[in-house]
Amino acid sequence: MQKQPFVGAEKLREIISVYPTPFHLYDEQGIRETAQKLQKCFSWNKGFREYYAVKACPNPFILTLLKQEGCGVDCSSMTELMLAERLGFSGDDIMFSSNQTPAGEYEYARKLGAIINLDDLTHIDYLREHGGIPEKICLRYNPGGELHIGNTCMGQPWDAKFGMTRTQIFEAIRRLKAEGVKQFGLHSLLASNSSDEMYYPTVAKILFKLAREAHEMIGVDFFMINLSGGIGIPYRPQQQEADIELISDDVRRLYKDMLVPAGMDNVMVATELGRYMTGSHGCLVSTVVHEKHIYKEYIGLDACAANLMRPAMYGAYHHITVVGKENMPCDHIYDVVGSLCENNDKFAVDRPLPEVSIGDIMVIHDTGAHGYSMGYNYNGRLRSAEILLHADGTFSLIRRAETPKDYFATFDCFDILSGI
Ligand SMILES: *Cc1c(COP(=O)(O)O)cnc(C)c1O
Repeated sequence: MQKQPFVGAEKLREIISVYPTPFHLYDEQGIRETAQKLQKCFSWNKGFREYYAVKACPNPFILTLLKQEGCGVDCSSMTELMLAERLGFSGDDIMFSSNQTPAGEYEYARKLGAIINLDDLTHIDYLREHGGIPEKICLRYNPGGELHIGNTCMGQPWDAKFGMTRTQIFEAIRRLKAEGVKQFGLHSLLASNSSDEMYYPTVAKILFKLAREAHEMIGVDFFMINLSGGIGIPYRPQQQEADIELISDDVRRLYKDMLVPAGMDNVMVATELGRYMTGSHGCLVSTVVHEKHIYKEYIGLDACAANLMRPAMYGAYHHITVVGKENMPCDHIYDVVGSLCENNDKFAVDRPLPEVSIGDIMVIHDTGAHGYSMGYNYNGRLRSAEILLHADGTFSLIRRAETPKDYFATFDCFDILSGI
């Protein structure tokens, strides 16, 4: 099966004639449609809200699109909070799901009225001193053990740094209730890039059960169950998109069976999806600048792992299309690499592709989440531009490429590089 870029060859060439490669390109229509589909599927829940995980694509223009579609934001740092505030998110529009949180960030999040997602029991005292205890708070749960879906082990929560144990959740609720908290939320993130349709229902079951027990044992009210993120996208051509309608139906059934009978029928379901929302709606566009024939065949790009870290960091698969050669046989085997002085700077290893020539344009798929945002400056490589393709075929620059001046900006308090 062919995996096609969301942008055609002709349009790409038009964009490249204005903005040189490399750049990340995003598909406005795709992002809007995904946001609308998610909300439609969860519309059975009054108050359902997606809090887009800002770290996946912290671009103000992308966040504005999602805001227009009714999404809130999930922030975890000062700068993410600042971005949210500047874009007009406030109060319940913001989840603050941080860990090892600096005091100033709690204070700022409280000032914005964000929903605080408390990562640890010890943070109760810390939050009281830095921003104060709100009337409404969310608690992050770590169920420990192993997470199984059917016979598959999905992960080992006991080995993750996030969240509180069951005992701590109950203690936190008791203490916070005594301190005047009126309404609670529960949150858990137990997988990443999960393609299993039972992932969300499994998290929902764990959190619904815990909320019901706390409601019945301690007599507290819950305003939110936050299933967080973790739903995957089909990076590989043979993979299928998650069936969000099916996933939502399963969560709905559990809600009806577990919460409604306990009188908890006004609890909002929230999500903090990042990858699912924008991952497939972005790509990294790059030009072939070199080819090299040694023990293997190498194709050298003008992009590198500094623009997209996932392959180097996780060995992640990103599909590659050679523009204009979509229908040619993939009868050559290449390593597609960047310029870093690091041997893991490879977008693809032993990848069958059509015969590649210098000057070819490559589209590296599915970089719309955890792509640009994981970028870095190793080897003095600069971050690329970001461009948004609109539904009507026009496009606009939504972040310029870095220049050496940006790279040297943190020396601006010294004289040594003046004039660079
Ligand atoms: C990273 C993160 C998400 C989003 O994860 P995806 O895999 O992109 O869906 C959501 N919530 C929290 C707290 C996160 O840290």
